[in-house]
Amino acid sequence: MLVMKFGGTSVACAESIARVARIVRERLHSQPVVAVSALAGVTDALQAMGAVSRDGALEEALSKLEACEERHQEAAKALLSGKSEAFSKNELRPLFDEARALLKAVFAVQELTPRTLDRLLGFGERWSSLLVAQALCAERLRAVHVDAGDVVITDANYSRAAPLMDRIKERVAASIRTRVQSGCIPVLGGFSGATEDGIPTTLGRGGSDYTASILGASLDADSIEIWTDVDGMMTADPRICPDAQNIESISFDEAAELAHFGAKVLHPNTLQPAMDRGIPVYVLNSRHPENCGTRVEVTEASEEGRVRSVACKRGITLTEVFARQGLEAKLTSAIFDALERQKCLVDLAAMSRSNLSLLLNSRGSADALSEFLQDKASVNVVDGSALVSLVGRNVARNPAICARALNALPDLPLRMIFHGASDMNLSFVVADEDADKVVRCLHDELFPRQQVLHPTEAPIPLNKSQESALVQAEA
Ligand code: ADP
Ligand code: ASP
Ligand code: MG
Repeated sequence: MLVMKFGGTSVACAESIARVARIVRERLHSQPVVAVSALAGVTDALQAMGAVSRDGALEEALSKLEACEERHQEAAKALLSGKSEAFSKNELRPLFDEARALLKAVFAVQELTPRTLDRLLGFGERWSSLLVAQALCAERLRAVHVDAGDVVITDANYSRAAPLMDRIKERVAASIRTRVQSGCIPVLGGFSGATEDGIPTTLGRGGSDYTASILGASLDADSIEIWTDVDGMMTADPRICPDAQNIESISFDEAAELAHFGAKVLHPNTLQPAMDRGIPVYVLNSRHPENCGTRVEVTEASEEGRVRSVACKRGITLTEVFARQGLEAKLTSAIFDALERQKCLVDLAAMSRSNLSLLLNSRGSADALSEFLQDKASVNVVDGSALVSLVGRNVARNPAICARALNALPDLPLRMIFHGASDMNLSFVVADEDADKVVRCLHDELFPRQQVLHPTEAPIPLNKSQESALVQAEA
């Protein structure tokens, strides 16, 4: 069996959904299960609708929702020909009515709790999965829509719910495996799930990747494919470094580290369920399915140090705690307990006798920590930081790599360097506005553009995606 996940840009409009149908058809022999994100931009739009309803602008929220409904109807019209009207009226309309009622309720109570927000955001994937299932049927594929809330059972940690794998396995066996065995293609919305009591939850932004690996692990699938808008995992975010190169194969631990340090192409939790079962994960481009993409797999440990990619994570708050009397274990543990209560993620931490520096994912948590430590320590909060990391096995232990990286850094202030917290990353904290420049300088140094060769020198063989880029350029 094969789990295929299509991200927002891969299902953005009728044309891209038609491409999805072609890709799925080509993989029928592998018994596919399909998970889809919301149409590109829809989750952000839903979030904005919730916020403006809460703040009193219900009309604005409802007109945004109207536009969203029209967008789905347009796509249905283009994809379903004669059946689109019935689909819009009988399938889409009731769900949009539900969303309208929810926005009115948010407006009435002037409150948007994490639980309500999860219910609201989940609509994006409910709409898209219904549409994609119908579009596959219109292409005469035996697709069947499965409600993710009936399968992906989670705890009640709204906005970042954790899957309950044992429950999920039971549900997957009952409603997905049996359907695949009878020749159907189950289509589910990613990102969302529900508690055992049926209250909608979400797995965190970008969580459809995680849905794919949860399903893959529960089905013991042969492989998991993450279809997106770039050629795979690359040596840097191609939006920052247009000359970033594709990585053909990467180990699970390196890819997981890359995702943790900000490579948005994979949700940070995606790889664990696949890694536990040794299921290979492929990252592929839905606009260029012929390209080889990236294979994430179990690889032999090696002593050799090499940088696989330069990652960048923004919106980080650097929090420096200074305890005059020294940082004894009791205070340190109280600090981490306070962060846990805030559900705050700590990206990196460094400690000395009386200083503790933390990289936190939220300004609010830093302020709460500051208040909590009022009479115990002084706290300095530095907003607007970004974490730029070199990721790869043994990177931090390789003096040559460290020296090259430090030499390549532009003449800009560094807020911190993290070296050796794991041997897999060397990280620099810089001001948000300097991050792109830092990424580009490090990338230029560590992944130099291919030189023009002297005719007598042997050419470096191209990989598949470079070959196809060349063919396209020559055509
Ligand atoms: P999807 O909607 O398919 O889930 P995302 O926008 O979540 O897609 O992730 C794909 C994006 O991740 C790319 O467009 C790219 O800008 C970004 N990205 C960041 N770092 C990397 C990297 N190292 N390799 C590839 N893409 C990256
Ligand atoms: N639609 C959700 C988001 O935008 C989940 C995803 O795309 O993976 O965060
Ligand atoms: Mg994504």
